[in-house]
Amino acid sequence: MRKQAAAFTAIFLTVAGAATGEDWLVHGGTQTNQLFSALNQINEQTISRLGLVWSRELGTSRGLEATPIVADGVIYATGSWSVVFAFDAKTGKTKWTYDPRVPRERAYFFCCDVVNRGVALHNGKVYVGTLDGRLVALDQRSGTPVWSVQTTDPAKAYSITAAPLVAGDKVVIGNAGSEYGVRGYITAYDAENGRQVWRFYTVPGDPKQGFESKAMEMAAATWHGKDWWRTGAGGSPWEGMSYDPDLDLIFFGSGNASTWYRSLRGGGDSLFTACILAVKATTGELAWYFQTTPGDSFDYDATQTIVQADLTIKGRLRKTVLQANKNGFFYVLDRQTGEFLSAAPFVSGITWASGVDPQTGRPIEMPGVGDASPKVLSPEPNGAHNWNPMAFHPGTGLVYLPERIGTQMVHVPDRNWKYNAARDNLGIDGTYEGPLYAKVASMAQPRGELLAWDPIAQKAVWRAGYPVVDGGGVLATAGNLVFQGRADGILAAYRATDGEPLWRFDAGTGIMAPPVTYTVAGVQYVTVLAGWGGSSGLMNMPSVGAVKPGWGRILVFAMDGNSRLKVPPFGHKDPPVPAIIIKQNPQTVHEGALLFNGHCFSCHGLNAVAGPLPDLRYATTQTLDSFESILLSGSLASEGMPSFSKILSAKEVEAIRAYVIARSQETAKPAPASQRR
Ligand code: CA
Repeated sequence: MRKQAAAFTAIFLTVAGAATGEDWLVHGGTQTNQLFSALNQINEQTISRLGLVWSRELGTSRGLEATPIVADGVIYATGSWSVVFAFDAKTGKTKWTYDPRVPRERAYFFCCDVVNRGVALHNGKVYVGTLDGRLVALDQRSGTPVWSVQTTDPAKAYSITAAPLVAGDKVVIGNAGSEYGVRGYITAYDAENGRQVWRFYTVPGDPKQGFESKAMEMAAATWHGKDWWRTGAGGSPWEGMSYDPDLDLIFFGSGNASTWYRSLRGGGDSLFTACILAVKATTGELAWYFQTTPGDSFDYDATQTIVQADLTIKGRLRKTVLQANKNGFFYVLDRQTGEFLSAAPFVSGITWASGVDPQTGRPIEMPGVGDASPKVLSPEPNGAHNWNPMAFHPGTGLVYLPERIGTQMVHVPDRNWKYNAARDNLGIDGTYEGPLYAKVASMAQPRGELLAWDPIAQKAVWRAGYPVVDGGGVLATAGNLVFQGRADGILAAYRATDGEPLWRFDAGTGIMAPPVTYTVAGVQYVTVLAGWGGSSGLMNMPSVGAVKPGWGRILVFAMDGNSRLKVPPFGHKDPPVPAIIIKQNPQTVHEGALLFNGHCFSCHGLNAVAGPLPDLRYATTQTLDSFESILLSGSLASEGMPSFSKILSAKEVEAIRAYVIARSQETAKPAPASQRR
């Protein structure tokens, strides 16, 4: 105990000179993106008194991924479909909401749920990127739009889920869509009027059209296939920007190439996909890049949090950036130059690479991983760590992050893949029925832990396990605390120095977003959005564990808070009662199973067992009777169920319907005779 108190004092002294962080003004807490607060009213001694002050339902069962921004007693947060909320921080009263009315029929092109990760605030305006590619500036007091620009070509499969980044007098936004085939870029706009200042592409375009810069010309030499630019090439910078005003640099990560598979792209490193990049904030010129996964074949986007930290490495104070990459390695780079300083695996069980070359930082791939043969690899595409922000505590010198251990995916590149703008372009062969799925089923289940990592020594200091694979974003505070929510709905606080669990609260539904902390009238609060979804939630693989889908909400805590959370019921308690009992043709059901797990499972769950979205085993007679009109005529497009008319034939839809009915019967309670037909 005495040792802990001493450690706490040391931490307090170390950070006492830091900003007190009374508001939470930028996405990462401060420009360093450390998700750290110097507030310490709530600390390891007082945390037992922490309780709920208020909560508000956000009217959605989809994933909530936003980091709230708090200024002058108002919380600004985003929900599903890029809706913005402003709440009175003390009372929870809604001050305004802004709904950008994203067309629901675009839902097919949102790979990973209709999420948004938050707003940016600057000079009386609130900025939000919308799922349909707009950047909107709202009046901070009223929520009324001041200006709006379309940052993407609406005819292409672009989307925005990231929070904008304010860099000086500019507001910068990236985009998503590599999974479908688009050309990634970030754009800087004048924060006052929305005028475009510069654009930086993450991948080159058609060489015949000429290159925008020397960087693009250099990158084009690393693409070896024929007509590779026709897919857009990918590289979506969909999350994880930060800004260093002293260096005039913006750091961000880029996503995978289109298609996922190097063997289908014709080889090469495919610059600047799966890279950490730095561009000059004033001009948008490339300053440096570091490719974490050259020639990526496994969706190892480098879009995870990029934390800035000044660390003494080998006796020299270095300005660094830190990233716990999807690919399983923790990177430390010099943020002035991009120089590779070190990397180490932060999870066990990585099977795509045996390590990282200590001189160059290039991963040492296992033999054959880039070829087109079927294989099982870890980590799977949601990564050893995904977008959920990690925190850095300058007092303990540790990084705290949600790690995903032992996740596996069967990769089967489709040798017949051809780019098709109407659908996803991952290049996966959905007809594969070989033994690798059975192999994965026989392997140890993946698991999740909160990991405290020493970025200088590149080693784990402590780990705190939980019963789900997916942990949420992390907040570290000068109260010697680390806060983290997770997919089973628990918001927990741990002692930062040793991982001792100190406090927990059941938020009623899974948490993905990071908590934030701030003061209003001298009282320290902790706030988090709870709402389970995202790609992991929607796919609902059995390996995700005891996750909790439900209705999303914002929760606010302070010492001696004594509100009780009322959790409205969600989902189905009992097995399905099939709406239709019919004898099925086993061949049709089998074809339907392959089609369902190829086209439908990424929203309606593997094997038709769903999480946040409708579980089709419970479909009513009316739904089953309208199946073709829903899938091919888009009759539920206004509710976010897109038409598949460009992807599926009527015969294929009938097979999917047969499979859904079969799954309902397989998992059902015996049905009363009156329902048989
Ligand atoms: Ca990706």
